Amino acid sequence: MGLTGIQIYKLLPQTNCKECGDPTCLAFAMKLAAGKAELDKCPYVSEESKAKLSEASAPPIRDVTLGQGDAAWKVGGETVKYRHEKTFVNPTAIVVALSNEQSADDVDTQLKYLNEQSFERVGKILAPNWAFLWDQKKDQASFLDLVKKVGGATEKGIIVSSEDVATLKAAAEALKGKKFAIHPVTKDNADDLIAFAKEVGAVPVAQGDTLEDLAAVGEKIVAAGLKEALLDTGWKGIRETVTANIAIRRAALDKKFRPLGFPTIAFPCAMTQDVELQATYAALLIDKYAGAVVVSTLDPAVTYPLLVNRLNIYTDPQRPMTMDQGIYEINNPGPDSPVIVTTNFALTYFVVSAEVEASRVPTWLLIMDTEGMSVLTAWSAGKFVADAIAPFVKKSGITEKVNHRKLIIPGYVAQISGELQEELGEGWEVVIGTREAADIPKFLKDYVGQ
Ligand code: SF4
Repeated sequence: MGLTGIQIYKLLPQTNCKECGDPTCLAFAMKLAAGKAELDKCPYVSEESKAKLSEASAPPIRDVTLGQGDAAWKVGGETVKYRHEKTFVNPTAIVVALSNEQSADDVDTQLKYLNEQSFERVGKILAPNWAFLWDQKKDQASFLDLVKKVGGATEKGIIVSSEDVATLKAAAEALKGKKFAIHPVTKDNADDLIAFAKEVGAVPVAQGDTLEDLAAVGEKIVAAGLKEALLDTGWKGIRETVTANIAIRRAALDKKFRPLGFPTIAFPCAMTQDVELQATYAALLIDKYAGAVVVSTLDPAVTYPLLVNRLNIYTDPQRPMTMDQGIYEINNPGPDSPVIVTTNFALTYFVVSAEVEASRVPTWLLIMDTEGMSVLTAWSAGKFVADAIAPFVKKSGITEKVNHRKLIIPGYVAQISGELQEELGEGWEVVIGTREAADIPKFLKDYVGQ
């Protein structure tokens, strides 16, 4: 267990210099104890104290990275149970299970999904992350073929899984130079595999029939000084797995129980053959703390909802996603092109810009900073109103780009058109646009007479 706030305080300089951003050393110590501050914020800690404190200041749930370069994906490192306390930081890895019982075509299809599949949503690129390679056939030769094939085809994270320790070691040799994980590390093989993982730089994935067994393996991992590990909570059905994930998160955060202070990996693919149900279980596990979820297919029908669910869970609930304020050019607009103004709520931007793009009408889109509020919310909060929009439009630089003075506003704020026209001044014309983004293409085509 980590040190208490008072124990940490005794190791700090106790000068209350405030450089860490806290008013006193004690306040900083309390934050460290709660895993809500980093030790390096205090520049005056002695080396001796640093060594003692490094364990206490480590995040209550360690982070784990698998994969190389741009394809590396980090999970864990979470410090809270609920996202209204603080944003969850490292999104759950979406993992595909591949085995030496699968046909080469199946493996190729899934590998292609893993490497090439990506979706853009609200300006973020979403993609699956790791492969879980399973020696289902209990046959070293065919398993090594699979490991070499996948290892040679992707830089994304790989977990190798075999009940045979010799096969795992041979697989590790084939993945030399990569950041990978080995599974399962159980109470029976822990001594051998933890030492091996340490030697080759692999991440051990602990497995146990009960939480106690899992903690016993975790304890050996901590004792060996390994900073990265995963905890396999997928030994039973969805109910037990969710319960285990919650128990582990509580043990790690509330009790600072280091042996369970690692991200979890869960296996919806082992719970049901029904792919839709797998996706549902995976979504639930993303919501309830899984560091990684393993599914049997990365078919977009499974991946897309999971990635969107993940995006929603791992964004800051206190800060809406926003776009930068400014002028956005869509379909190569010119001096005669229409000008639309709307708010900087990211979803508003992406829905509106997609419809403008689909219309093929060259258009200037003015995005106004409304602190990420959508049109009606910003209007009711007094942020998307005439006396705010008019100065923004005039200062935006749009008047230097167009030879007209017509401004299209969202149909939902039609009531501000008169006042806005007055605020903009003589020569300006305010045009009421559509209420729904879906009606934009027709509106724009009619507007420019196409
Ligand atoms: S920077 Fe260090 S010495 Fe200064 S108040 Fe913070 S903890 Fe204390």
